[in-house]
Amino acid sequence: MGSWKIKLLFSTSKCKLMRNSSVFKLSQSQSQYQGRSFSSLDVQSRLKNVGFIGLGNMGSRMATNLLKSGFRVSVHDMNGVAAKQFVDRGVLVKETPMEIAEASDVVITMLPSSTHVLICLIQVMDVYMGPNGLLHSSSALQPWLFIDSSTIDPLTSRKISLSVSGCALKEKLDCQEKPFMLDAPVSGGILAAEAGSLTFMVGGSEEAYLAAESLFLSMGRDSIYCGGAGNGSVAKICNNLAMAISMIGVSEALAVGQSLGVTASTLSRIFNCSTARCWSSDTYNPVPGVMDGVPSSRDYQGGFASKLMAKDLDIAAASANEAAIKHPLTCQAQDIQDLYQELCRTYTGILPLHDSINCATRAMKRRIFLACSAIIMVERTSNSIEIEPTIIIS
Ligand code: NAD
Repeated sequence: MGSWKIKLLFSTSKCKLMRNSSVFKLSQSQSQYQGRSFSSLDVQSRLKNVGFIGLGNMGSRMATNLLKSGFRVSVHDMNGVAAKQFVDRGVLVKETPMEIAEASDVVITMLPSSTHVLICLIQVMDVYMGPNGLLHSSSALQPWLFIDSSTIDPLTSRKISLSVSGCALKEKLDCQEKPFMLDAPVSGGILAAEAGSLTFMVGGSEEAYLAAESLFLSMGRDSIYCGGAGNGSVAKICNNLAMAISMIGVSEALAVGQSLGVTASTLSRIFNCSTARCWSSDTYNPVPGVMDGVPSSRDYQGGFASKLMAKDLDIAAASANEAAIKHPLTCQAQDIQDLYQELCRTYTGILPLHDSINCATRAMKRRIFLACSAIIMVERTSNSIEIEPTIIIS
């Protein structure tokens, strides 16, 4: 058998929901946010002091872009090393989320990329509701707006939104007595965070969204209003779910086609002017050498880590379960992710195909083995593949 390489690649994609679309129905708990009056007077003066929490891969770059746009930013991260780079640049660093709240008109959170959904949710909840959390003030709150850009499940976004709307504002602004909450997860990854070209998918009060647009446009190229509280999170997980499945589909089709003797470049040219065309085939092609400048052509550097994709799929599956919606492809995509991660744990670096197949057949059931075949990113270096196509696609 020839030598092959295996890797799984995912990346975030742009959300295509139309502004003001009613794709997602508002739940009862959300409807209370509609129709609140919100003055349009001097919005910019309400955005002067911005607190930013979560200075990881994404947040550090987003906060930097806010600073470049002239906002007065104070920051917090539980990890001193992450905060240190901002200290060195003369930025005000606070010890707790509560201190950030005390110093800010608006607070943005970008928390974390834990592989475990539960840990991720606990950390986000802790920043808002914990002992030194954003909402833990003995008196009324200073910030009139909270924006959570983390990828979390819609239910948690709605819970946090409800808690925020239960707080009072320190300074009543026109008719507004309570702070607003927007869930505003992003698409675009680390490179887009750096370039300030993220897409924000925003749920919550539309007035608050409109008032905050200049913040979004300082960190991103696009912001799309999705409806009531939690709808930004819904849009984000649906986007990533669709992208995960289409990436697996393109990968499987390219693996099958190559094993039958057509090159990935030829197949991709055909897909891209035919009905198979999608982001995974024409913008982020998974096979090395088909496209320039994409992670597959630079040894997968700078791509969206598969562990983050696994987290998003877990959130999508849990949300579908809550809504009692059948989601067979989500489950299949989760199996593929699980297997890939198990393989990565067993082998470091690039995994030769025949090793992965031996490992899979030994350790896993046939269904998982077949799923494994679908994620093989093939780079032929000699000979032909010795898997029957029927096995790959059955
Ligand atoms: P990250 O893990 O690099 O950064 C998270 C930061 O939050 C870390 O610096 C961590 O120390 C800090 N943090 C965690 N818990 C905290 C707490 N309780 N108090 C204060 N700080 C705390 O994550 P990331 O890659 O920047 O991703 C952030 C979010 O954006 C995630 O939800 C992720 O799914 C989403 N996202 C990531 C990408 C990407 O390409 N990395 C793309 C789109 C969306």
